[in-house]
Amino acid sequence: TLSDRLTSVLNNLRGKGRLSEADIDATAREIRVALLEADVALPVVRTFIAKVKERAKGAEVSQALNPAQQVVKIVNEELIAILGGETRRLNLAKNPPSVIMLAGLQGAGKTTLAGKLAKWLRGQGHTPMLVACDLQRPNAVTQLQVVGERAGVPVFAPEPGNGVGDPVDVARRGIEEAKRAQHDIVLVDTAGRLGVDEEMMRQAIDIRAAVQPDEVLFVVDAMIGQDAVNTATAFRDGVGFTGVVLTKLDGDARGGAALSVREVTGQPILFASNGEKLEDFDVFHPDRMASRILGMGDMLTLIEQAEQAFDAEQAEAAAMKMGSGQLTLEDFLEQMLTLRKMGPIANLLGMLPGAGQMKDQLANLDEKHLDRVQAIIRGMTPAEREDPKIINASRRLRIANGSGVRVSDVNDLVNRFFEARKMMSQMAGRFGLPGARGPKG
Ligand code: GDP
Ligand code: MG
Repeated sequence: TLSDRLTSVLNNLRGKGRLSEADIDATAREIRVALLEADVALPVVRTFIAKVKERAKGAEVSQALNPAQQVVKIVNEELIAILGGETRRLNLAKNPPSVIMLAGLQGAGKTTLAGKLAKWLRGQGHTPMLVACDLQRPNAVTQLQVVGERAGVPVFAPEPGNGVGDPVDVARRGIEEAKRAQHDIVLVDTAGRLGVDEEMMRQAIDIRAAVQPDEVLFVVDAMIGQDAVNTATAFRDGVGFTGVVLTKLDGDARGGAALSVREVTGQPILFASNGEKLEDFDVFHPDRMASRILGMGDMLTLIEQAEQAFDAEQAEAAAMKMGSGQLTLEDFLEQMLTLRKMGPIANLLGMLPGAGQMKDQLANLDEKHLDRVQAIIRGMTPAEREDPKIINASRRLRIANGSGVRVSDVNDLVNRFFEARKMMSQMAGRFGLPGARGPKG
């Protein structure tokens, strides 16, 4: 398979000290094939590969990962970034009801999605209502009613027997009804065609103009692969949309459509559907999608583990030094950077057993202060970091000027460092930490 091939090419890189240009090019070629096989559109692949190459060339050689893993990590990170990074939440109106309109080709999964979204929103404490504006297909209204019943939400539909109604009129009256019955969100289901056609687009545009939705969600079947770009472009230029929902991810599609649609339209993917049941639905997770497109879930797990192991090794080495009273400011900085990588420091320390009373104090330990500490240590020479005792008055002044702080800040840091080092070595003696000399030592 593709993922095997990619893995084997990347394995060839293993053992090399750094990423050479030839390595990067060879890897890029395989990744290109990988993306094309995942049905990512060609222009999108080109842009993406260029971006990855650029970054790989500038990349520092990682100590934790071998070159193969490093390239995959970069590819994965760039994929996640393109897929939207953090999941965007629904835009809701300040004055309810919020209106969410669904648009997309016939069979994309709009009506099913209406039910899924309604159920999900209900779970979040909202009181959604569905409006049936697909009057094209004979069974469309009934289908929405069935879905609404399953989701436990009311459906506004034209009265039967009046011939084919006007969807724009139904949409408008639906919103009125939602206001009257105090529903805070209205989901407008619309008609689609098998292909993009002018009449369908016209109708969607008219409905959008009539109801002024807070979100227009473009619903797209992940299985349509390369067609996703054309369809998305047609909807972007026609009715326009503010977000994307991918459906049928339970199929065997590699999810390349996600990357294409996101990159070509610039609109975020908000939700993902992965089955016919109302529960088969979730907010969109860019990291999961990236791993699906790459088809290298195992490799990504390995990379994560390798990095964690490396961090742990470094932490242990520093603990050894702490215990022996040989901690340097360099170690201190490294530890701090490791901690910061793991997230807001207060959260992390707050998770330690017995850290209960410490929590309030920790909450005051603000990130700005950490930035300052970091800047000060960075302003020191290696010799100063190694042996802070040599930091005399003139050095302190130079460091303060160089890192944009006051001399008293530098004094503060150096004094606290000595205190901490003393305390750690005492504690290590008492608790028998590795590297400690022990009470008698
Ligand atoms: P619409 O024409 O856009 O309203 O699409 P429908 O909601 O009627 O869905 C078309 C078909 O796709 C129906 O048979 C649905 O059951 C099915 N469907 C919708 N979403 C999904 C999904 O996420 N996975 C699978 N396997 N089927 C889906
Ligand atoms: Mg439908």
